[in-house]
Formats: sequence, structure tokens, C-alpha cells
Amino acid sequence: EYSLGPKVTDWDAQRREWTSRHPEFPALDPRRGGRPRVLLVTGSPPGPCDNPVGDHYLLKATKNKIDYCRLHGIDVVHNMAHLDPELTGYWSKLPLVRRLMLAHPEVEWIWWVDSDAIFTDMAFELPLSRYDGANLVIHGYPDLLFEKRSWIALNAGIFLLRNCQWSLDLLDAWVPMGPRGPSRVEAGKLLTASLTGRPPFDADDQSALIHPAAGAEGRWMDKVRADDGEPPPGLGDDRWPFITHFVGCKTCGRYEDYPLDRCIRGMERAFNFADNQVLRLYGFQHRSLTTAKVRRVNDPATNPLQAKEAALKMDAKFSST
Ligand code: UDP
Ligand code: MN
Repeated sequence: EYSLGPKVTDWDAQRREWTSRHPEFPALDPRRGGRPRVLLVTGSPPGPCDNPVGDHYLLKATKNKIDYCRLHGIDVVHNMAHLDPELTGYWSKLPLVRRLMLAHPEVEWIWWVDSDAIFTDMAFELPLSRYDGANLVIHGYPDLLFEKRSWIALNAGIFLLRNCQWSLDLLDAWVPMGPRGPSRVEAGKLLTASLTGRPPFDADDQSALIHPAAGAEGRWMDKVRADDGEPPPGLGDDRWPFITHFVGCKTCGRYEDYPLDRCIRGMERAFNFADNQVLRLYGFQHRSLTTAKVRRVNDPATNPLQAKEAALKMDAKFSST
């Protein structure tokens, strides 16, 4: 039987003990206005994209993540190595997330964000206090999960996983369908037979997560929060969510469900929309959402310290929500 590594059974106690010896890492991070520590984790293949334009948009999506995380006091890990030759592609996030959890006891939440996801509301702060009883927070639709067992009931491209024993156990339960070869092929058949709407293909991480979450009657579900997370109204532009995930685009790969130029157009708009929220702090803005060119938006003589005060006020406003 495949395993992610030597079994860990007392992680909560180990982590508590570590934390008690490291007062320099208080549970509530002063750099985050007293919020829990979050580590954003993303990754991309070890080699160049099949199409050079894919590398350019990978860079833009990475810059966008750096911007969001700087504004919110979040550290970023970008992994390009295949840590486990058995677990390639989208399965590679499982061993990575596990390693990071064990290597960063100071972090409360590991936040996996796919490379093809772009933050489009830079001011939005994760409402972590609302997730107090949850260990896995993931975008999804509870009715599709429980009533329909649909294969798109959850999207495994973005999730928050609490650094605790429950999460290590979940990863152990999640991974057996992942190793390449016959187990992935056989598991793919099982998943297609048991989930609604799933086309026939080898086992993927998303279906493999839905399968135990929807089955196993409550073994996992009481600690999983699946919501369709409508962003609070009035932030940014109502037409843009907190994160825009370009599912089915595969700009770095060879095959895509949508034509490449359509994906690129969408990513360009999303990137520029978010980038405007950053550039505005420095008095600039893109000329339009379809161009990389920028223009000045205010008098360069304006005192930048005044802009800083305004930004801090905005931050304080969001902190109180
Ligand atoms: N990924 C990675 N290494 C790889 C392939 C993928 O880290 O070799 C990450 C990357 O962040 C990607 C995610 O895994 O967004 C999901 O992989 P998938 O093949 O589904 O790509 P997507 O459709 O998200 O582009
Ligand atoms: Mn994706």
C-alpha cells in the first residue's frame, strides 16, 4: 500500500509542544493584525510551458499572488519540484502540502492555490474566524456533494487546510488513488462509476477528495466547510470574485477545454483588474483592462504618505470585518 511517508499519529501534541518552546511564533501573528498564520502554497511544472505565452501568464499569476500575500502578511511557497515521482501533475500538491505542514508548525493554515488562479479582490481578507470548527475549507456546493455526488461538487484547485492531525489523516485517506500506473487507472473507473457526470479518465485529486467526503457518512464532513463563498457585496467590482480560477484553461500545457486565446484574454483582464488595485497605491493604473500599458492617475506631487494613510485606513476597515 502506497504511503506519503512515515505515519504521524500525534501531530497535534507535537505541534503544541513545539509552539510552547517558540514564543517568537505566537499563534496570533502581529504582522497579520493578530490573525492566524497562513502559508500560501502553489506550484508549476519543473520545465518550461509547452507554449512560451504560458510562461508569461504563469509569471503574471505568480506576481499577482506575491502582491496579494504582501498586502496580507502571508508567506508564499512556489514549488517546481516533483517531490514524489509517483504523484505527478495535480497529485503533486498532496506530498507537498504534507511536507510543508510538518516543516511549518508555526503555520495554522496551509492555503493551496492553483497556478491558474488569480486574486481579483486584493483587499479581501480571509474570514478565518468563521472557520473555527473546520479543518478543510474548500469552494463547493453542498447540495451537489450530498444529493448528487457530482464530480464538480468541490474544486480541489483552492483550499485551506488546517495544520493538524485530522488533515494528515485526510491526506492519507485521499492519496491511495494517486500513484501512477494501474492504481490510478482502476481508481479512475471506480470514480467515473460512482460520481455523477464524471467523464472516463484516470483518477484525479478532485474526484478522489469528493469520493470519501461524500461517502464515508460524516467521517470527514463535519470538519469540511464547502461553500460557494459569495464575496461580500461592495468590495472591488461586483462582477469579480475574490479569486478567479481559470479552470479548464491549461495555458501552460498542451491541451485545453477552451481555446488558448480566449483563456489568455480572460487572464489578461483578471490580472490587470487586480493589478490596478496595486498600482493605484502608487498613483498608476492600466490604460484599460486589455493592456499592460499604464498611466498616472493622480498628480505626482500628491504626498505619497497621504496615500499610505488612506491605504492603512482601508486595511483597518477590512480588519474589523
Ligand atoms: N502543478 C504543479 N506541478 C505540476 C503540475 C501542476 O505544481 O507539475 C500545480 C499547478 O499549480 C496547477 C495545479 O497543480 O495549477 C493543478 O494542476 P492541473 O494539471 O489541474 O493544472 P491546471 O488545470 O490548474 O492548470
Ligand atoms: Mn487550476
